[in-house]
Amino acid sequence: MIDSIWLLRIVEDTVVDGPGFRTAVYGSGCNHRCKGCHNPHSWNKENGEQYTIQEVADKILMNPVSDVTFTGGDPFYQAEAFGRLAELIKKRSNKKIWCYTGYCFEEVVRHSGFRHLLSQIDILVDGPFIQDLYEPGLLFRGSRNQRLIDVRLSLIHNRVIEWNYNPFPVFEKETL
Ligand code: SF4
Repeated sequence: MIDSIWLLRIVEDTVVDGPGFRTAVYGSGCNHRCKGCHNPHSWNKENGEQYTIQEVADKILMNPVSDVTFTGGDPFYQAEAFGRLAELIKKRSNKKIWCYTGYCFEEVVRHSGFRHLLSQIDILVDGPFIQDLYEPGLLFRGSRNQRLIDVRLSLIHNRVIEWNYNPFPVFEKETL
């Protein structure tokens, strides 16, 4: 079983990679080479450092508040390692896991080596960054082709179901 993972960095309590406070785990390595990529330094896996998956999980779990975002690079470039990390997190917490990838959801679903990681992600932000579709101010993503996908519902219904962001769920409930 794989026990190490290549990471560029871990950023605690970020608020830009999904809703609320999150621990962002930046995997190194990406083969999509999107024009206008925000971080070409992340393409080469060896620009990162190797950690044990257990030590990364322990660090994430020490934070009782923050949810988790896998980003990079492309975490699916190390799908087995991120799958194991997600498994350790889910076994010991109810943290929500978001994951960014340059693959489209339809490609991820078809790839047998990606299934384990996919099955543990709550929201997948999918697709490459496309400079011509860049739009400032898009919620948690850079270009209009990228989608915020509710993975559990999409797998159940066998079609892409996008996540519905509601920043004020309590207020909405009270007005019903
Ligand atoms: S998937 Fe992300 S990290 Fe990879 S090349 Fe595209 S924008 Fe850059």
